Amino acid sequence: MAFSGALTITDLDDFLTPSQACIIPVRGSVPGKQDDGSTEIQIDDSNTYYEVSTYPTSSAGPSSGSAKALGKKALEKAEINLNDCLACSGCITSTESMLITLQSHNEVLSFISESASSTTAVKTPVLSISPQTLASLSTSYASSSSTPPIPLLILLRRIRYFMATSQNGKWRTWDTTFARHLSLRETVAEFQERRQWSAKGKEVAWDSSSPEPGPLPVLASACPGWVCYAEKAQGDMLPLLSQTRSSQAVMGGLVKTWWAKMMDLSPSDIYHVTAMPCYDKKLEASRSDFYSAAYSTRDVDCVLTTGELDLLLSELGFNPFTPSPEEHMTELDATSLAGSPWPELLNHPGSSSGSYLASIIDLVAASHPSPTRLVTREIRDSTDNVEYLLEEVSSGEIIFKGIKCYGFRNLQNLVRKVGKETGLVKSVRTSSKLSAALAARRRKSRMARGGEITSTPTPIDSDAESLTVPAVKDEKKVDFVEVMACPSGCVNGGGQMKPVSSVARKVLDEEGYERPLPDDGTDLGMTVDSGIEKLPEDSHEGTRWSTKDWVAKVEAVYWNGLPTPPPSPKADPVDLTVQRGKTESEKHKLADELAHQVINDVTGNDAAARWEFLRTRFRKVEGDVLSNGGLTHEAVKW
Ligand code: SF4
Repeated sequence: MAFSGALTITDLDDFLTPSQACIIPVRGSVPGKQDDGSTEIQIDDSNTYYEVSTYPTSSAGPSSGSAKALGKKALEKAEINLNDCLACSGCITSTESMLITLQSHNEVLSFISESASSTTAVKTPVLSISPQTLASLSTSYASSSSTPPIPLLILLRRIRYFMATSQNGKWRTWDTTFARHLSLRETVAEFQERRQWSAKGKEVAWDSSSPEPGPLPVLASACPGWVCYAEKAQGDMLPLLSQTRSSQAVMGGLVKTWWAKMMDLSPSDIYHVTAMPCYDKKLEASRSDFYSAAYSTRDVDCVLTTGELDLLLSELGFNPFTPSPEEHMTELDATSLAGSPWPELLNHPGSSSGSYLASIIDLVAASHPSPTRLVTREIRDSTDNVEYLLEEVSSGEIIFKGIKCYGFRNLQNLVRKVGKETGLVKSVRTSSKLSAALAARRRKSRMARGGEITSTPTPIDSDAESLTVPAVKDEKKVDFVEVMACPSGCVNGGGQMKPVSSVARKVLDEEGYERPLPDDGTDLGMTVDSGIEKLPEDSHEGTRWSTKDWVAKVEAVYWNGLPTPPPSPKADPVDLTVQRGKTESEKHKLADELAHQVINDVTGNDAAARWEFLRTRFRKVEGDVLSNGGLTHEAVKW
């Protein structure tokens, strides 16, 4: 099978090469024989699963033949559903495979072809593209053609123009940065609520129609990889998760609720597709909070990864280097032509994973009565694990402590630290499920060579001073954490475009699938078999298909591609012409006005309705397999 950017069963990994091995233990194994981690699962041509150990097994399956001598036992078919899945990305569950089949570029192609041949009214298609997706596509197009990266705004408009043709189904194509704007505003509002609630408790007047604020610190929840893991392995931490919807979830509400109302459409009359940097966003879109029973529709009907969007565009005949008529027009003209009801590519300085921490730091600094300064400290020299301390200049007092925590390796320490500070988690070791998920994620994040991928500095760092922080300042408890499951964050998501090899070399991975070879000069010690290079037997899943240089390129395109100041058109009733010549902050102010209008239109400023529109809930999930006494992770060979 040739490798492509599209989903294959082996692509379910956030950032590195995945495998089909499930970290959830197998029930009914041989007592006393698995403790040394010598068990492996094999699949034969007829899709029969075998447990193979280094020990001969008396219960070898009927079809095993020589298997008995090899310690090979046919396994009963087990059903593992989404509740069991720890999102370690090592496997695909039966429910997940169904979900992902329904969320593929083939589904979108089917929709387009059915729409073209239909004589009855079809759904109105909307495509919402994340800025990380645009950055990844632009980097990939530039690498494969040796041309400069296409600015994100130009690329967005070319895709919009292409998808708006009758032949392709007259799509509306927007980016998700206005949705992110709403998400960031709500994150800030939630943090303020929690801070007041923590300081004054019941003295704070609270509208009982919406849930009371949770405790501090707030852990950002825009990353579904982290949320899935927290719900299934760290239920005690759930009260700390920010309840604010992610950009994708807000975008779903904007399209299916606000925009549908503006267009006099039923939510079920819209087919809403998003393009996101990871597969985990498919799981997020399937959450029950984002389903409308009244209209039998989801806020997001289909999530495509960046690679899948690339495949869709390519199969439809899109040429990213073909200019579109309106791509250099002013934001006003482009807006009117494209029918975009909200600003295009709003810039939010901070991080390429959503700028959640930067927004909170801005809030705390702006609301403090005296001047502050920001100092940063990289923990264990990792740019994926950084403390941000806001210090009052006059007294030196630390008034805020934030952490940027990317990658499951750092996340393990974060859980331990926050659990200890809050008393919510006595010991990380109490959860074997957690350890299993972490082990799987960490195993995948090991580098074949050269250590861990770390992110390049982003604008949140630019004004901060990097200082040695006196130990006494460690006493300040954490207030906010921007948590992301992927090392380097969303620019390195598992659904992003992979490095383009200048020599078009392919290599077979350990499962026999062709993979593009990283073009960073990494020597993996390949052997050659029938003209195709093969990884050595002792290679493991830590072999990476993304590279540090590649992630740095995507990060650079992400920031360079965002126009500064960005065009920020306004929808009715605000006069769009007033935006011209505005500064960045003025344009954000206009976006704020539109955000206020949207919320008022949808909720009538009713507190409970507002909560439902902008927030979500998390719950502990008990998996059938895990809660019914499966083997512990120690029995599984890593
Ligand atoms: Fe997806 Fe970003 Fe989380 Fe990675 S860090 S799993 S790309 S949301």
